[in-house]
Amino acid sequence: MNKVVLITGGSRGIGAATALLAARKGYDVCISFASNENAARDIAGQIEALSRRSLAVKADVSLEPDILNLFETVDKTFGRLDALVNNAGILEKQTTVEGMTLERLARVFSTNVFGSFLCAREAVKRMSKKHGGNGGAIVNNSSAAARLGAPGEYVDYAASKAALDTLTIGLAKEVAADGIRVNAVRPGIIITDIHALGGEPGRPQRLAESIPMKRSGGADEVAAAIVWLLSDEASYITGTLLDVTGGR
Ligand code: NAP
Repeated sequence: MNKVVLITGGSRGIGAATALLAARKGYDVCISFASNENAARDIAGQIEALSRRSLAVKADVSLEPDILNLFETVDKTFGRLDALVNNAGILEKQTTVEGMTLERLARVFSTNVFGSFLCAREAVKRMSKKHGGNGGAIVNNSSAAARLGAPGEYVDYAASKAALDTLTIGLAKEVAADGIRVNAVRPGIIITDIHALGGEPGRPQRLAESIPMKRSGGADEVAAAIVWLLSDEASYITGTLLDVTGGR
């Protein structure tokens, strides 16, 4: 039976690239999405064309009932869970800290931080050898913003990713003896739709020259790092934050 990976926010961008690569590597894949059902169905169809089982579930990771339903649907459909990619994430319009409302902070932290904590909790319950599971791997999609701070753009987003780094380090130590590895990737500037949320769709092009490798990254390049961290090739790696930034 194939291993099963759950990728939150797998309908577009880095999550979609990770879903397709994981399928090529032999996983059956569940992707979740927030609202873009057509994009999710398209990725699920591409996974099935690779002769893997796929499932696309609408689940807003900022809502606990949606997360519980997502994991129960995985249980019912596949009967096992071997890997989780906490990928779903948002940022909001570029502004300084002075311009940030409580409502904005709540949206960013509930999606990027609370959603990842709750998904990690549900995955650990299923994968931990302590609870009769087979062990597994979790990869959190953090950001280089966690160490750069994103001044003048989205310090809130950067801080949420720093929280994800700490989740990675702490949870890795907590569940290492139970057969679960927990790591994070910290992408730099990657060409996806997310920059439009910040009000600047062309940000990857504007900043390309400032990156040591003189180009922005592709979603496939982050997906390769995520799928490698999930794999047995990374069997002695846990609690690691892997930068995928072209040197940024
Ligand atoms: P993207 O192209 O905007 O895709 C975001 C994905 O997340 C979509 O599948 C979206 O679903 C889903 N999503 C958004 N809000 C959600 C919610 N509340 N619940 C469930 N799913 C939700 O973004 P991306 O650039 O691929 O980013 C993916 C991850 O990489 C994020 O965590 C981001 O912070 C991180 N990252 C990105 C970059 C970059 O430069 N692109 C750099 C560093 C880190 P719908 O299709 O339904 O909207």
